Amino acid sequence: MRIIRTITEMQKQMQQLKSEGKSIGYVPTMGFLHEGHISLMNRARLENDAVVLSIFVNPLQFGPAEDLDAYPRDFERDHEIAENQGVDYIFYPSVEEMYPDNASVKVSVVDRTNVLCGKSRPGHFDGVATVLIKLFNIILPTRAYFGLKDAQQVAVVDGLIRDFNFPIELIPVETVREEDGLAKSSRNVYLSDDERQQAVELSKSLEMARLAIERGERSPDEVVGMMRHHIKENTTGTVDYVEIYSYPELGEMETLKGKVLIALAVKFSKARLIDNTILEVE
Ligand code: AMP
Repeated sequence: MRIIRTITEMQKQMQQLKSEGKSIGYVPTMGFLHEGHISLMNRARLENDAVVLSIFVNPLQFGPAEDLDAYPRDFERDHEIAENQGVDYIFYPSVEEMYPDNASVKVSVVDRTNVLCGKSRPGHFDGVATVLIKLFNIILPTRAYFGLKDAQQVAVVDGLIRDFNFPIELIPVETVREEDGLAKSSRNVYLSDDERQQAVELSKSLEMARLAIERGERSPDEVVGMMRHHIKENTTGTVDYVEIYSYPELGEMETLKGKVLIALAVKFSKARLIDNTILEVE
């Protein structure tokens, strides 16, 4: 496995692979790897000749009051995990390498971002799109792997790939969870013991929603109300949002029908957690 820190060297290596006709599976991350990231790497390993992992905590996608400085980092550990998963290249650039002080073009995502995290984190998806355009042009992936835990991100990347004609296949991967149902996240380390116990109620509320819909509930307001109530009664967290949209368009619906995203974000003392489920409603 090679660790590469410069754009020039990374592009050179990737162009070489391309010229040999090799497929490149790409997993973008912010590091502090866990089983969620590992499942993306495994899938990429199965489907491609070469696997590239990038580790870059992208300042552009953090708001001024968010946890950029506190975001957990451990390159040595990540290195070992990537090696064990059969990753071929880690792209690990500095902020200066990715953002020299001379930008002349700004990226603005205009669809699928006026709800959910796009609404509560203004500018977040502009930052995600900017870094991904750069990373896609550096890594030249055949396939790019993204977790459905960030379902809105998958919807935005789907639009980005289509609008900018990237010859990349987007592969969404199911959310990996702890045994009790909590979605794995690098930010889970910031939960207190108490909060960690309570955090299970987030995935439980999604499960309750799924059961209610299975039993015939078709009102988004009813489902949202029930979930908000459950989270409020059973955790000390503050609900940022509980919302339901069509997927991947993220349009509002009066009656639940078709492919539906039920998503939530809850703030605990030091960590804001997100989770979701995607259902097919008859
Ligand atoms: P991050 O390092 O948090 O930016 O995540 C990098 C990639 O891993 C993104 O595509 C995430 O959606 C994905 N990911 C994060 N957590 C999980 C999880 N629990 N299950 C599956 N994929 C995940």
